[in-house]
Amino acid sequence: MTNFRGAVLRERGLPRPYVESRPLKIVELELPDPGLGELLVEVGAASLCRSDLSVVTGARVWPLPMVIGHEAAGKVAAVGPGVTSFAPEDDVVLVYLPQCGECVRCRGGEAWLCDVGATANQKGELLTGGTRLTHHGEKLHHHMGVAAFAEYTLVSEASAVKVPPGLAARDTCIFGCAVLCGAGTALNTTGVGEHGSAAVVGLGAVGLSAILGARVAGAERIVAIDRLEAKLALAASLGATDVLVADEQTAVRVTDLTAGGVDHAIEASGTLEGFDLAMRLVRRGGTVTTLGLPGPAVSHDLELAPLVANGVTIRGSYLGSCVTSRDVPRFIELYREGRLPADKLISHRIALDDINLALDRLADGEALRQVIEF
Ligand SMILES: [Zn+2]
Ligand SMILES: [Zn+2]
Repeated sequence: MTNFRGAVLRERGLPRPYVESRPLKIVELELPDPGLGELLVEVGAASLCRSDLSVVTGARVWPLPMVIGHEAAGKVAAVGPGVTSFAPEDDVVLVYLPQCGECVRCRGGEAWLCDVGATANQKGELLTGGTRLTHHGEKLHHHMGVAAFAEYTLVSEASAVKVPPGLAARDTCIFGCAVLCGAGTALNTTGVGEHGSAAVVGLGAVGLSAILGARVAGAERIVAIDRLEAKLALAASLGATDVLVADEQTAVRVTDLTAGGVDHAIEASGTLEGFDLAMRLVRRGGTVTTLGLPGPAVSHDLELAPLVANGVTIRGSYLGSCVTSRDVPRFIELYREGRLPADKLISHRIALDDINLALDRLADGEALRQVIEF
């Protein structure tokens, strides 16, 4: 496949506004035919996530040059030798961690911690080894095995999950990251159940997705918290039972509302302040789950005695503790039933040429998911 367009990052840390410094350049790309266990995918839509921004700023260092983007959906255009689970024309959601199915973590039922997939991602390579994308013959890395911001991409079959026909890629693309991480955290990692309570700190697309997940779980009390009042109304419409602007009184108010604190505080803001607040929202015996991914320099001074005396658990949630082949179809089914209206997390629909402007919006914190339609 030759002469299709995609967005390449060559230099990290360029200054804002991105609409002027243009960290992402739209160039013509080439791909070979898919090899053993690989799929060529025509990308229908891809969306921007804060993790893309962290690659652009350099907060997370990935090998460059790279075609970035890790949340997409599309149609299989061709399959390589040995592929039996996919055929041309299949609709797929691409996922940002290829789960090998064979490593200790995968075999132990914790495929979201697949070591082999994580190592391939860190090298900017496919699970099947090496890179395939080129620009006039120059080798380009693949962001998290997906390389979503291009009209076509080539992936390991472990980076794709088949979804039923008839759904629009422009809506399903966000199932590859935002829905897995947010709804997955509520449903899989925390295990909040009926009559349980959860508070979500930080109402970006992932935090709002956690609210959707808590609602599916049947949680009795779902508290949504953000510094921006504008995000609270959306949280309420998605199932939050209580919405609060984050301020000095938040912890006290949540403690009052829930007679001592919530069972689960979910930190989705990626900030030290957000984590600190989450720590003050849980009841004795409660759990703080963090998925916000702040920069590598962010650390927290933890007072240990109350942790012990109150029996509090702190845990991280990667990929919403999802096994992608199990959870993408499960969440898509909930979406089809109207129980997981994830398309409400999309705030902008844009063209590939507007991608640098979209990065500015992301950095300003004004956007939820911005979906590029190809
Ligand atoms: Zn993401
Ligand atoms: Zn594995």
